[in-house]
Amino acid sequence: MAEPLFRVELGKSMADQEVPGHNRWHPDIPAVASTNPGTDFRIECLDWTNGQVGNNDSANDIRDMDLDQNHVLSGPIHVNGAEPGDVLVVEILNMGPFPGPDTEWGYTGIFSRQNGGGFLTDYYPEAHKAIWNLRGFHATSRHIPDVRFVGIQHPGLIGCAPSAELLAEWNRREQALIDMNPDRVPPLALPPLANKAILGTLEAGSEEFDRIASEAARTVPPREHGGNVDIKNLTIGTRVYFPVYVEGAKLSMGDLHFSQGDGEISFCGAIEMAGFIDLGVELVKGGMEKYAMTRDQHMPIFELSHLEPRYSDFLVFEGISVHENGDQFYLDAHIAFRQACLNAIEYLKNCGYTDQQAYILLGAAPIEGRISGIVDIPNVCCSLYLPTEIFERDIRPTDVPTRTVREGNLATES
Ligand code: ZN
Repeated sequence: MAEPLFRVELGKSMADQEVPGHNRWHPDIPAVASTNPGTDFRIECLDWTNGQVGNNDSANDIRDMDLDQNHVLSGPIHVNGAEPGDVLVVEILNMGPFPGPDTEWGYTGIFSRQNGGGFLTDYYPEAHKAIWNLRGFHATSRHIPDVRFVGIQHPGLIGCAPSAELLAEWNRREQALIDMNPDRVPPLALPPLANKAILGTLEAGSEEFDRIASEAARTVPPREHGGNVDIKNLTIGTRVYFPVYVEGAKLSMGDLHFSQGDGEISFCGAIEMAGFIDLGVELVKGGMEKYAMTRDQHMPIFELSHLEPRYSDFLVFEGISVHENGDQFYLDAHIAFRQACLNAIEYLKNCGYTDQQAYILLGAAPIEGRISGIVDIPNVCCSLYLPTEIFERDIRPTDVPTRTVREGNLATES
């Protein structure tokens, strides 16, 4: 086991931890620990909501969630010798929920349209929740029958601090988007918000705290430092190459997922958990130049792990960029993937699941989402690969005439 560099106590807010983490991005949030390149260490994480969701049978906690607290992150970790222009190489060595009967569980939520929303919020505007039992590598849920699958664990959110210039650019462009429709529900983007800001060891109410809180970026979108990329394949065994934008890199992470489908479609669509993650770090001086990570919108790259659930039977649903109301869109992958999801949900309803069970399943199970064709004007074709082996009964199409011979015997001498 790697040496813990950051610890959490479950049941306590991130703000009240002995060494608090943070829930905003800003270069001036002080590092809470430091390490040398060439070392392995353990980081403990609360779940992304700061412990707001309980292992129970009510979705009121999802409906009433205080989103201003999210996501709570562990860090920043100062990597000695890291400077802007370097690349921080982070290997994910291991991760999981904290061991024990009270902690080996996770949840998936559908957020209310009024409070968070999600990919299909126009169809499913009310809050729902599924609790998952995490046993070894498998997830099952008392809220979704006949389903059992292998999780592909990953940090939903991991990245280094932005530089002051990069942060200013994020704030500029996101505010410009918000200004296009400032009253929209759910909002187009989230501006900096001082309310419920947790800024590590900085004292709330100090002048420094107030300045940083008014500038710091929210943690929801993925950006050039990585952040909330929600890539399910960023799992144990991957090696991630992070651009370094500030002295010490200031690596932070959180939002641990036991499993997730491509797209994480219900916003809180992964199996969310508190837990630990073991990491090893190396530093490549001048790595951004060396690896051609110098475009303005460049993001981290990573080497894919050799670990993956071994599912080989999939039922594949397709979608094109035609809106449900019949409007034609031009090569719009968002619309096309939505159609693929809606088609899959309709199919699963026919198998006996409710709309919301199907929606949650597509967010949480290891489904594959693909942009299959993006050149055939005017329609993108997106596809959603649903592993049929995650169901403990046969959900494949039935009553297909078969040409397989059911009776027969070898020819013999007459
Ligand atoms: Zn998450």
